[in-house]
Amino acid sequence: METIVEYTARKKPLNAYPKRVISPFHHQSCCSARMVQIGTVRKDQRGFSFYYRRCQVCGFTLRHFLPIQPPEESPMVQRRRRFSRAVEQVA
Ligand SMILES: [Zn+2]
Repeated sequence: METIVEYTARKKPLNAYPKRVISPFHHQSCCSARMVQIGTVRKDQRGFSFYYRRCQVCGFTLRHFLPIQPPEESPMVQRRRRFSRAVEQVA
């Protein structure tokens, strides 16, 4: 999934989430205190989770990536682990 954020200095900032967001190129002094989450957590094309954060004052928007969580163990891995444990007990 590609980003919905368009960075431009020619258009006025716009929040038309989830279709598109128009953001200025650079963050300013207002941004660090006024960034709020818009929308829900999404995944990019690599599978990383993120959500959009947007400054309530100037409209600067960025993707905020979440820390990577370990994937759930698949049933295949669990079965293999059980099997190898059984072999160790026999030996
Ligand atoms: Zn700002």
